[in-house]
Amino acid sequence: MKINIEAVRKIENENFISFDYQINESALNNYLSLLEAEKIEFIKINGNISQKSGLAAIDYTIEAKLRAECARCNKETLHTIKIDGEKYIADKSDEKDANEDFYITESDGVVDLDDFITEFLGIEVPARYLCYDDCKGLCYKCGKDLNDGECSCFKKEKNPAFAVLDDFFKINFDDLNDLNNLND
Ligand SMILES: [Zn+2]
Ligand SMILES: [Zn+2]
Repeated sequence: MKINIEAVRKIENENFISFDYQINESALNNYLSLLEAEKIEFIKINGNISQKSGLAAIDYTIEAKLRAECARCNKETLHTIKIDGEKYIADKSDEKDANEDFYITESDGVVDLDDFITEFLGIEVPARYLCYDDCKGLCYKCGKDLNDGECSCFKKEKNPAFAVLDDFFKINFDDLNDLNNLND
């Protein structure tokens, strides 16, 4: 969605443009790699464009709801990314004056909300998704989901002393079996 912001720039009063926009469902798949998601439920943006300190500025809230795989256990879970902020708007032709407080338009005098979302939502994508912060992940050996309980390979590796004891008892049980066999 494109918004012409010339009206806001020209009029020196409290003129503002409100927007409330949702990415079309058929276009959501275009954002899968940006969000590193398996499926996107929605992406929406709302806010205002107004004049601040003589410059056009955009106040915005972007919200995305998506399904992504947990980086540790591969389980697919629902995540919400929500960001809000404020940027001054500079045209590409005035780019030299801009810093990180600015959004640079691709086309002078026009804010393209799709581009805007790509630029600012992309920054907020987490380095990795987790199903929950303390997810124990999968056993690297047998692949068991350790959130459902420990697996036996994990116990042995963790406590080599117990493995020695296991062998000790095994020998003694074998001896007992031999004795039992003798009695038969
Ligand atoms: Zn997990
Ligand atoms: Zn295991």
